[in-house]
Amino acid sequence: MSASRDALQRHRVPFDGKFSLRGISTEAPAGTPSKKKLEQELEELVGRLDRLQQRLFADRRHALLTVFQALDAGGKDSTIRRVFSGVNPAGFRVHAFGRPSELELRHDFLHRVSEHLPERGKIGIFNRSHYEEVLVVRVHPAFLAAQNLPSTDPKGAWQERYESIRNFERHLAANGTTVVKFFLNVSRKEQKKRFLERIEKPHKNWKFRLGDLDDRQCWDDYQKAYEAALAATSRQRAPWYAIPADDKAYLRVAVARILVATLEDMDPQFPKLDAKQRRELKEGRRRLARE
Ligand code: AMP
Ligand code: MG
Repeated sequence: MSASRDALQRHRVPFDGKFSLRGISTEAPAGTPSKKKLEQELEELVGRLDRLQQRLFADRRHALLTVFQALDAGGKDSTIRRVFSGVNPAGFRVHAFGRPSELELRHDFLHRVSEHLPERGKIGIFNRSHYEEVLVVRVHPAFLAAQNLPSTDPKGAWQERYESIRNFERHLAANGTTVVKFFLNVSRKEQKKRFLERIEKPHKNWKFRLGDLDDRQCWDDYQKAYEAALAATSRQRAPWYAIPADDKAYLRVAVARILVATLEDMDPQFPKLDAKQRRELKEGRRRLARE
């Protein structure tokens, strides 16, 4: 089996609603190649991604939506930067979702996401996403209260939101948008190391936010929220992948392998020329030859 296929199966969150983070490693699997080998593989995978993206664009029948979720310092930004550098910038768009605005809070929670979906032919990349609505909003009930919803039962709210998300993603899939979701699974220990680096290294200072330490205090609540959300929303048509994120070189390669395999399965094709287009090619060749 190719490395890409293997990554698909190895890290996929099962579709039967049963998923526990306890059995899931934050470290690269045994037998992972050296950092140098991984970097070479990444380069090769990025080239394949670029070529697949070109076909996706030419074909215009499918879009690909990739969702990245992680705790702070999980590696979302650097993974997106590294995996997509080398892919034609015209072919994809990244959107980062921060705290919703006053106006966004007055809409349903999928509204602001819809605006940023990729059109057919494109790859859309969500740095955070609608999933924050069952993660940070679940961990901090004040965010839910701020949404002024008619229902007063916060317990039912999560099941309802999972269902909304499943329906939303099924709708996307049925309309040509393949959805693939990555949870970058970082350990508490590694997060501490990365926070300390942000404090100690001047060029990383700008990334440090004291507030991130408050979220770190809620570690167990976040793990529970992720576990429940992934179990409830990993489905055949919109799978979740839980990727070990303590080793960034492995993390990037695993994400790139899965993207390549996903696009290969979508199998975008250059459009077939019809008789008129073939005649036009001949005519073009003739006219250029006469110059
Ligand atoms: P960053 O990704 O570091 O720029 O931070 C963005 C922040 O916005 C994170 O702390 C997210 O948890 C927060 N955020 C994103 N979406 C939502 C949401 N729907 N409700 C509340 N906070 C959110
Ligand atoms: Mg935060």
